[in-house]
Amino acid sequence: MKKFSTIAEFTSWRKQISGTVGFVPTMGALHAGHKELLRQMRKDCDQLVLSVFVNPTQFCAAEDFLKYPKTLENDLAIAQIEKVDCVFLPSNEEIYPTSYSTYVEELNLSQPLCGTFRPGHFKGVTTIVLKLFNIIKPTKALFGLKDAQQFFVIQKMVKDLNLDIQVDAIPTVREPDGLALSSRNIYLSNLERERAPFLYKILKEQERTLLNGERITETLRHGIQKLTDASFQVQYFELLKLPLLEKLESLTLPTDQPSMLATAVFLGKTRLIDNVLMG
Ligand code: AMP
Repeated sequence: MKKFSTIAEFTSWRKQISGTVGFVPTMGALHAGHKELLRQMRKDCDQLVLSVFVNPTQFCAAEDFLKYPKTLENDLAIAQIEKVDCVFLPSNEEIYPTSYSTYVEELNLSQPLCGTFRPGHFKGVTTIVLKLFNIIKPTKALFGLKDAQQFFVIQKMVKDLNLDIQVDAIPTVREPDGLALSSRNIYLSNLERERAPFLYKILKEQERTLLNGERITETLRHGIQKLTDASFQVQYFELLKLPLLEKLESLTLPTDQPSMLATAVFLGKTRLIDNVLMG
């Protein structure tokens, strides 16, 4: 397995390889969700590239950039087991040298949901993903629906900017009790970890209610109430149309329109997001 921390080293390797290149971008602290991405991509490409880079531009002021978990040795061991061909581990300076001043921003899908509560987050995401696409030059890139808004924003960027890269997503990988795997779950105290699976349970309950024909506004209101009663501080609990993340105009769930029920909450100091895709 190759390991490169400079763009020049990566580029010289990239020029020598042939066949399809599958790319899985991550911020490290790898868990079973990342492993599943690597496994799926491994089956689908000749060369598998993993990037580990905690991207500072997607963190807002007062977020956890400096204390974001770092488990590099374990990440490399996982990469080896999952038969990664090359790990790209650039430094901040390599990606954003002093005087760096160019950003790419998607303007519509980036606005609702996490866009409202994490100003500048998706601008940081689209900028780093485009930069990594330009460096890695992958045939395909794979993302997780755990971060569904991120996936739809990236998919839109790829379409709008005519990038010749196939982007796909895998379903959210969960703990047996339903909690979506996340590098941030290690921040949860024992008590919070016990409560955390309620997030997905409530999402699924409200999904059933919508499928049973209850009004959207009532279902969302009840969802927020249930989450609040279970000690979550709710940032949003919303139903939006896919893939453009627009508001649904109908009173009840339409049968012919894919949609996403998505939520972000704080449990203590830890921010959790989750979603269910419908139709
Ligand atoms: P991160 O390292 O958190 O930036 O995530 C890197 C990639 O892993 C993104 O495409 C995420 O959506 C994906 N990912 C993170 N957690 C999960 C999960 N529980 N299931 C599936 N994909 C995930």
